[in-house]
Amino acid sequence: MKIKAGLGYDLHRLVPGRKLIIGGVSLPSDVGCLAHSDGDVLVHSLIDALLGAGGLGDIGQWFPDTDPTFKDISSLELLRRVMAELRQAGFTVLNTDSVVILEKPKLGPYFPAMRANLAPLLGIDPDRVGLKAKTSEGVGEVGSGQAVACWTVALLSGGG
Ligand code: MG
Repeated sequence: MKIKAGLGYDLHRLVPGRKLIIGGVSLPSDVGCLAHSDGDVLVHSLIDALLGAGGLGDIGQWFPDTDPTFKDISSLELLRRVMAELRQAGFTVLNTDSVVILEKPKLGPYFPAMRANLAPLLGIDPDRVGLKAKTSEGVGEVGSGQAVACWTVALLSGGG
């Protein structure tokens, strides 16, 4: 069995007047991600990890932020499209693991809802969608609440 790993990273600036959507869940927050799409940092890093593992480029190539088609689009829809491409290329997902770095709110209570959004799209059991949250201990742009970041690794099997 061929196994391929991919790494994804994303960061978004946090600004007033936008929803904070992470893992497809709208979170209580007075700031949200500045982005062309809904700014879902977790799903964007997940998409880049999947595309990287599949040798299919990156999110910017597939969904350019200059394309009005993707304005305010749900990132879960982008993930659905990426999974269709990966399946067509013969890949299945084995597991994913993500670390979201954000000062507030605490994300742990929302992990079950995020897994319920992501697992069916990925075609894996919810316990194979690793989710962790860290703060940046008050350091730097993330620590001061100006940004949210996320790292993801994804493991695929199959493909050419
Ligand atoms: Mg992004």
